[in-house]
Amino acid sequence: MFDKVLIANRGEIALRIHRACREMGIQTVAVHSTADTDAMHVRLADFAVCIGPPPARDSYLNIPAILSAATITGVDAIHPGYGFLSENARFAEACDAHGFTFIGPTAEHIRMMGDKIVAKQTAKELGLPLVPGSPGPVTSVEEIIEIGKKIGFPVLVKAVAGGGGRGMKVIESPDKANEQFSMARVEAKAAFGNDAMYLEKYLGKPRHIEIQVLGDGKGAGVHLGERDCSLQRRHQKVLEEAPSPALNAEQRGRIGELAAAAVRKLKYRGAGTMEFLFQDGEFYFIEMNTRLQVEHPITEAVTGIDLVREQIRIAAGGDLGFKQEDVKITGHANECRINAENSETFVPCPGKITDYHSPGGLGVRVDSGLYTGYVMPPYYDSMVAKLIVSGSTRNECLMRLRRSLEEFVIGGIDTTIALQQRIIHQQEFIDGDYDIHWLEKLVGLKK
Ligand code: ADP
Repeated sequence: MFDKVLIANRGEIALRIHRACREMGIQTVAVHSTADTDAMHVRLADFAVCIGPPPARDSYLNIPAILSAATITGVDAIHPGYGFLSENARFAEACDAHGFTFIGPTAEHIRMMGDKIVAKQTAKELGLPLVPGSPGPVTSVEEIIEIGKKIGFPVLVKAVAGGGGRGMKVIESPDKANEQFSMARVEAKAAFGNDAMYLEKYLGKPRHIEIQVLGDGKGAGVHLGERDCSLQRRHQKVLEEAPSPALNAEQRGRIGELAAAAVRKLKYRGAGTMEFLFQDGEFYFIEMNTRLQVEHPITEAVTGIDLVREQIRIAAGGDLGFKQEDVKITGHANECRINAENSETFVPCPGKITDYHSPGGLGVRVDSGLYTGYVMPPYYDSMVAKLIVSGSTRNECLMRLRRSLEEFVIGGIDTTIALQQRIIHQQEFIDGDYDIHWLEKLVGLKK
């Protein structure tokens, strides 16, 4: 096992990884920008190294600076968290080349799943069902119209290098193709430096269902059930639940087993998530994330398995600690992402936390680096806390979620606690009756 791990991230996920390491008797090294000197994960880590100024490209994305910090502090391994360098195959290779274990999959698998077209081709070979669409990249409006006529409009153009819902545009009809295609390409070029696009049939009322998987890299692989992440705004997840209120046991078993079989065939190493859209009883693979997900704690809550601990154990060469039949899904869990944003306008609102009180009690977990007096820097993602609540039934969980949100105090900044409260009081949400477009209809899509 490792003695010392460097955490190449910030915020709640850096803290989350620190906690798993400490429970395993592993020392931690925090790396941080000058804007994060007072961050909680920096305070709690055994060692901390400042790696650069606030812009992420100069610090959290600065591979030479991170590897230098790893060398100076003598770590064995590097955990990338999510976002930043977590799906950067070059970073995974650079870690290996410098003698540090990258806590994640192989660079080959990261690269394979990072290119959406290769990912979809691979998924097809692995026997996963796909959304109908173009077999490869689309380069002309004529091609879009031709494929669109075959699979039916509306269609969705998506960036091959996509992520975070950017570089994606719905094309309602052939006459809109030119305009939407050029807009999507401009957005993709700006966001990813790559304007290669592909085409999918646009599904009108799907749910987003994703399967958590773990592989040992040697051919063993399991799934840990699904998460329903259909509550989204601008393709960003807002509130997640496990299990999904939309699946029956047969559907759950079918998609879980397909995902686990894919992991075994790939000899995938570490934690990953296979994302599907689900409509009219059918699943459609959209992508695989080769990293820990923001919403991983709801899977932990219903399985009792510490995913970060498993990532670390697998990276250190360990076998999976359990078999598929040992994985039991018990009860229900929800996660609310709390962002430092106005609940109505969604304008980000970083600043000083004047008052902080997090909810507690049975079945309540808060992952957050906030504390009273903390000044939230304006440079990074606006998510400041995750409230994870579990109960023996969905109903118990939702009541617990209600009272936990009532207890949560984050003073000094605007947060989306009010938005979360609004969502959980809607009858459709209580009934579990929502698709990926439901939330945008509730809040209105403000541009
Ligand atoms: P990204 O990598 O940018 O997150 P994804 O392919 O994972 O892109 O899609 C993100 C979200 O966009 C999905 O959760 C879903 O809400 C929506 N989406 C993606 N593909 C489709 C589709 N074919 N039809 C309808 N909505 C889609």
